[in-house]
Parts: sequence; structure tokens; C-alpha cells
Amino acid sequence: MPDLAILDKAVEALIQCHQAHGSLVVLTGAGVSKESGIPTFRDAQTGLWANYKAEDLATREGFLSNPAMVWNWYDFRRNTVWQAQPNLAHQALAQLETLFPAFTLITQNIDNLHQRAGSQTVLELHGNIFRYKCLDHNHPVSLDLLADAEASPPHCPVCNAWVRPDVVWFGEMLPPQVLDRAFSAAQQASVMLIVGTSGVVHPAASLPQLAKEAGATVIEINPEMSALTPFVVDHFLQGPAAAVLPALQSALTLRLGTMEASHA
Ligand code: NAD
Repeated sequence: MPDLAILDKAVEALIQCHQAHGSLVVLTGAGVSKESGIPTFRDAQTGLWANYKAEDLATREGFLSNPAMVWNWYDFRRNTVWQAQPNLAHQALAQLETLFPAFTLITQNIDNLHQRAGSQTVLELHGNIFRYKCLDHNHPVSLDLLADAEASPPHCPVCNAWVRPDVVWFGEMLPPQVLDRAFSAAQQASVMLIVGTSGVVHPAASLPQLAKEAGATVIEINPEMSALTPFVVDHFLQGPAAAVLPALQSALTLRLGTMEASHA
């Protein structure tokens, strides 16, 4: 469990945000899915996949040189993620969304677990492993409608290019509209909560800095200090997300309930 005095300060910042009708912005990374058993990209490279480099599996060049192998790798990862369940951290974030009218959840994860936990609006900076698009024109593709859905990979029904997962590979731009919305949310945040990210992958890692410069209070949840902790974080809640987030959310709900009762 995190230090209770720090937890209290974090709750206080969230209360102030709530009272002032401010905006709560959350940025999550791979750590939020840790207790769901989702391995990191590298941890997933076991057995059959142990000898491949990330550049072979998650770049445009890798796909072009061996489309079947990359397609099969994403099939394997998709199956792992599909069998996982959202954990208490995902659920606590879905609950927090119901408390704040101005709420934005930004994630670097591609695992869809926030949505499965009930989060309504999720800005996915790095895409979603359950979506597909074509390699040449980004046409969205639904596998259910494809005649050659079993192929590795199938072809786009519009332009016949290969179908690929709609995730951001190394060296690719982030989806510009999603990124714009994330930057604008960060600039307007009263509180930014960062959960389970090492803070080294840009541009996601610049969002907390941006929020801080615009006057937000920054709260971080992570078992270990990240690259962001010494520079932008006001309240560092040390511990696993699936323990700390429910504690934060229930302390906040309790305080808000008490305040409402005393005003009744
Ligand atoms: P990262 O692997 O670089 O860092 C993970 C962070 O989570 C670390 O700071 C670590 O201390 C922290 N952490 C570990 N256990 C935790 C826990 N129980 N609770 C809270 N935090 C915990 O991940 P990143 O910063 O998200 O960046 C890596 C990239 O890998 C991203 O681009 C992301 O898209 C991708 N990725 C996504 C998934 C997914 O979809 N679940 C999984 C792996 C990697």
C-alpha cells in the first residue's frame, strides 16, 4: 500500500478538481495491465518467438519482408490478450470516469482492457490489437467481412493491399487526431494521473510535462520511480496499480459522499 499521507494529498487534489469542475486526465502504460498477466512486448517473445528481434515483428519493414510471420505473431499476442481479464486498476479507472464530468483516459496500451472494464472514452495513442487496417491506405478492415479472412495475412477488400493490425509500429507516426485530442486534454487538465508507464516513449511521455506546465497537479502510480517522477510528479503513490488505484478511488468516493451528506 502507498504511504497514507501521500494518498491523502492525492485525494485532496482530486477533491479540489471535482469541486472546481476541473478536468481529470489519466495516462496509462503497460504497468496498468501487469496484474492482468499481459506480458510486455519483450516478455512475450518466448518459445517460438524468442529469436526474433522487435524490428522483425513490429515494423513496416519487418512486415514487408515476412508478412505471414508478423501476422502470426500478432495472432499469438491477440490470443494472449483475449484470454486476459481487466483487473482492479482498469475497473477503478472506469469508476473514476463516472465521478468527473470532464474526464479523459489516454492509453499507450493496445490491449482493449480499459474498454472491457467499462471505460467509455479511451484515446488509444498506439492503436488497438483487435482492429485492422490495410497497409497501403489505412482503410479500416473488418475480418468478418473478408472472403480470405483465414489467410496470413488477408487482403483489403477496397485496394487489395495486405491487411495489418491497427497498431503503431516502431518508426511510425501516432494517429494525428488522437494525438491532438491527447495534447489538448493534457493542456486543460487540472489533475493528471499517470499509471504504469516508464515515461520514456515519446510523444506520450511529454503529456505529463505539458499538463504540469499548464498548471496541473500530477499524481503518479507505479511500484518504481519512472523517468517522469523527479521532474513532474507532485504526489508519487508507490505500489502496483491494482492495489493503489482502488484505494485512491474508494477514498475519493468516501470523501465525496461525506461532503454531499454534510451539504444535504
Ligand atoms: P513500459 O514497459 O516501458 O513500462 C512499464 C511501467 O509499468 C514501468 O514503469 C513499471 O515500473 C510499471 N509497472 C510494473 N508493474 C506495475 C504495476 N503492477 N502497476 C503499475 N505500474 C507497474 O511500458 P510503457 O511505458 O507503456 O511503454 C512501452 C510501450 O509498450 C508502449 O508503447 C505500449 O504501447 C507498449 N505495450 C503495450 C502493452 C499493452 O497493451 N498491455 C503491453 C506491453 C507494451
